[in-house]
Parts: sequence; structure tokens; C-alpha cells
Amino acid sequence: MAQYDVVIIGGGPGGYNGAIRAGQLGLKTAIVEGRGKLGGTCLNVGCMPSKALLHASEMFEAASGGEFAKLGIEVKPKLNLPQMMAQKAESVEALTKGVEFLMKKNKVDYIKGWGRIDGPFSQGIGKVVVKAEDGSETVLETRNIVIATGSEPTPLPGVTIDNKRIVDSTGALSLPEAPKSLIVVGAGVIGLELGSVWKRLGAEVTVVEFLDRILPGTDTEVANAFQKILTKQGFKFKLASKVTGATATDKQVQLTLEPVAGGDAETLQADYVLVAIGRRPYTQGLGLETVGIVPDKRGVIANDHYKTGVDGIWVIGDVTSGPMLAHKAEDEAVACMELIAGKAGHVNYDIIPGVIYTKPEVATVGKTEDDLKAAGVAYKVGKFPFLANSRAKINHETDGFVKVLADAKTDRILGAHAVGPNVGDMIAEICVAMEFGGASEDVARTCHPHPTRAEAFRQAAMGVEGWTMQA
Ligand SMILES: Cc1cc2nc3c(=O)[nH]c(=O)nc-3n(C[C@H](O)[C@H](O)[C@H](O)COP(=O)(O)OP(=O)(O)OC[C@H]3O[C@@H](n4cnc5c(N)ncnc54)[C@H](O)[C@@H]3O)c2cc1C
Repeated sequence: MAQYDVVIIGGGPGGYNGAIRAGQLGLKTAIVEGRGKLGGTCLNVGCMPSKALLHASEMFEAASGGEFAKLGIEVKPKLNLPQMMAQKAESVEALTKGVEFLMKKNKVDYIKGWGRIDGPFSQGIGKVVVKAEDGSETVLETRNIVIATGSEPTPLPGVTIDNKRIVDSTGALSLPEAPKSLIVVGAGVIGLELGSVWKRLGAEVTVVEFLDRILPGTDTEVANAFQKILTKQGFKFKLASKVTGATATDKQVQLTLEPVAGGDAETLQADYVLVAIGRRPYTQGLGLETVGIVPDKRGVIANDHYKTGVDGIWVIGDVTSGPMLAHKAEDEAVACMELIAGKAGHVNYDIIPGVIYTKPEVATVGKTEDDLKAAGVAYKVGKFPFLANSRAKINHETDGFVKVLADAKTDRILGAHAVGPNVGDMIAEICVAMEFGGASEDVARTCHPHPTRAEAFRQAAMGVEGWTMQA
């Protein structure tokens, strides 16, 4: 008899949500986490601390950058960075403690230490060895092992992260001072979010990107509009530029780059450099070789039911293929546990939204216009600018627009893409409509409260059939 039905290795959104669902389904479950706290990248050094700093820095900028004054609120704010960092740490601590409580509530054993798979299953039972901080080892016997070990920052050749002057995302969440200048390498979600934090707190921010556009994979029209908005905010962009090296002193970093197309090299100087060129699956020390699993660039590959090539070993979250997002990890976790419990777990990969929590936000779900053009799908477009949305106008946040894409024949919604105030919250209505196989007309004919920014989504849906009404 195995001790456990499921042992999950990794305590991030994949691991802990999976553990909760497994507990609910009556599976005897253990979760193994090495970093000393549950919550994974997301709660400890990802989604949550970055959102805490985005929120606080947004407030600071509103107070200092003229936004408050325009509303008739005159204040002279003073940045207290230690307090800003302390409130971030407090929120993170509360969240990780909350996850620990949820483990207890769902009768999940939380085992602290680094887990490794220890050889092939025998008679349907596998082993996970957990090495604790004091070096002691515990062996867990289980009928199923779920790999949920997440990801780590991708290194940039020629640039050594010291997390002092040259930092990765974790370092950029805890800078000891507000820099006067910051270079962000990589114009993806993490670079633009953390670049925004420090820009709002006073830094000159230059974003260096290898490609000739920002936010690869995002709808091109939305990405281009967003770049214009960021440029208006003072961001500088060096696109199609390849970083070739970086040298740090105690006070500054010199970064060398050259045009991707060839040409003269150039040197930039800044107080700090943030390297945010992406993340890669993390499988170090996991003992995959003992069961014959060979990960590739996308991580540990599974079939569409989260099963690796080895019976009894499953994989979810950042460590396997697909978008590296907390909600994707969470949904896979739920589906995987339901499948282990003999139920019909499933994730709809056509409807995984993505949000960039800048100001304004960017939100996207489903196919982009670029995808549809490449696939030769006939589609219709409805668009609506926030300039014409009364709530956005009153709040002086008129940058951006919403775009809804629908099948030209059936009107079924194929995607929605937006840049504008709070679009990250509002994209959920399109996700629900899409999950129900909804048409743009379904959203267009759904009564929306007035005045709200959500009306921009409705108006964009109305625009698919050309009957946009608000101005
Ligand atoms: C700065 C930043 C901001 C982000 N913001 C967002 C956001 O706003 N929204 C969003 O959806 N996503 C965001 N992400 C991505 C999100 O954090 C990840 O997609 C998510 O955490 C993946 O969850 P996971 O459970 O697969 O892995 P992780 O959260 O990485 O958790 C894996 C855990 O496994 C542990 N582990 C690894 N190996 C072992 C082992 N052998 N034994 C024991 N434990 C092990 C690790 O210590 C880690 O705690 C952000 C990421 C970063 C870096």
C-alpha cells in the first residue's frame, strides 16, 4: 500500500491548487516544496510582489505626476521605498500563509524540502525522496507523482546576473533604491511591468529588444498602440538590438549592443540593468533521468492529459509546454487531479487570457488578427476607442481601445484584444462568452451597466456588425 495517492513536487499555483483539488476529491495528497514557503514563483517573486509594486508606484505617480492635481487634489508625495517594500512583503507573507492554511484545511501534507523522483515505479508505486534543509531525507511512496516545479529566468549569454547592479525579475522586485536610470533587456510582459514600476518612481527607462517590436505574440495593432502610449509616458525603446555584453561597477552598468541587422555597436550606461528575456522550465535535481524522462526546450512534455511517457508521472504548469501563466498552471492542476481521480478534467487552451498590468493595461484572449490572417480564416472586426467611453473620459484615462474578432460566417467570437484602463479585469467577460461558444452579437445585446469601462467591450462587439452607438 502506498502512503499517498498523489505527491506533488512544487508548491506554486500549479502545485498548491492541484493539492487543494486533490484533497477535495478525497485523494491522500502530499505537496513538496523546497523554497521554505508555499506559493511558488507567483506568490513569492512573481505575480503578487510585482502587482504590489505596480499598485503602489501607480499611486505615487498619480500623486506626483499631475494626475491628482488635475482632479483638484494637491499633494507633494515623498517616496518611502522601505515602506513600499515592507507592505509588499507583508502582503506576500499573508498570501503564502493563506496557502499553508488551505493545505491543512484540505488535509494535504506539506513536506518541506527538495523532492526528487527515485527510480521507476514498482507494482504501481513510485518514490519521491525529499531532502530537508538539515540534510535529512524522507521517502514518500505514492501511486502518482505530479511534477509542478515551475520555471526560472532565462540567462542572457554574455551578461552575468549579480542581482546587485545587473538583476533578474527577482532582483528588480527588491532594488535598494529608486534608480535614476534603468535599462530593461526584453520588451515582454515582465520587463514592461517592472520597467513601469521604476519609471513611475523616477527612473529613465530604456527598453532594449532583439525583435523589431514589443510584446511578441500579442496582437500587432495592440502592441504598436501600447508602445506609442509607453513612449508618450517617457519610455525609450531600442528595438532590433542585440545585447553583446555588460560590465558592472559598484555604481553603474555599461551595456553593449549592436543592431541585429548589423552595424555599429553602441554602449549604454545605467544605474541598473534588468534582464527579462523570458523564462525556462525548471527540472534541476528532479531525478528525471532515473525514470527515463528527457525534457526538451519546452520542459517535460506530456500528452493532452498531463501524462508524461511514464505511467503514474504527470506534469503541469510552467515546467511543461504552453503559456507560462499562473492561471494556466492552476487550470491544468485542477484538470490533472480530476483525471487522476477518474473524472473528466479539461482545459480549453483557446481561451487562456493574458494581461499586462501596466497603466493602461493590456488584455488579450483567443486568436490575434495575425493568427487569423496566417490561418486564412475569414473574420470581422469590431473596435471601440476609450476616448469615446464616457467613464474613461470622466476619469481622464482615454488611451487605448478594444477590438473584438468574430468569425465572418458564424459570428462566433474568435478573440479579443485591448489596451486601456482596467481591461485586465474586463477581458473575463469575453472569456466567458467564448467558453459558451458565444457570438459577438451575444455580447453586443447583453445589457451592460452605464457608465462603465466595460461598455467599451460591448461597443466593440456591436462594432462587429457596424452598429456602435456611443460617441
Ligand atoms: C515577475 C513575474 C511576474 C509574473 N506575473 C504574473 C502575472 O501577473 N500573472 C500570471 O498569470 N503569471 C505571472 N507570472 C508567471 C507565474 O509566476 C508563473 O506562471 C506561475 O508561478 C507558474 O506556476 P507553477 O506552479 O507552474 O510554478 P512556480 O510558481 O514556479 O512554482 C514551482 C515551485 O516548485 C518549487 N520546486 C522546484 N523544484 C523543486 C523540487 N525538486 N522540490 C521541491 N520544490 C521544487 C520551486 O521552489 C517553486 O516554488 C509572473 C512571473 C514573474 C517572474
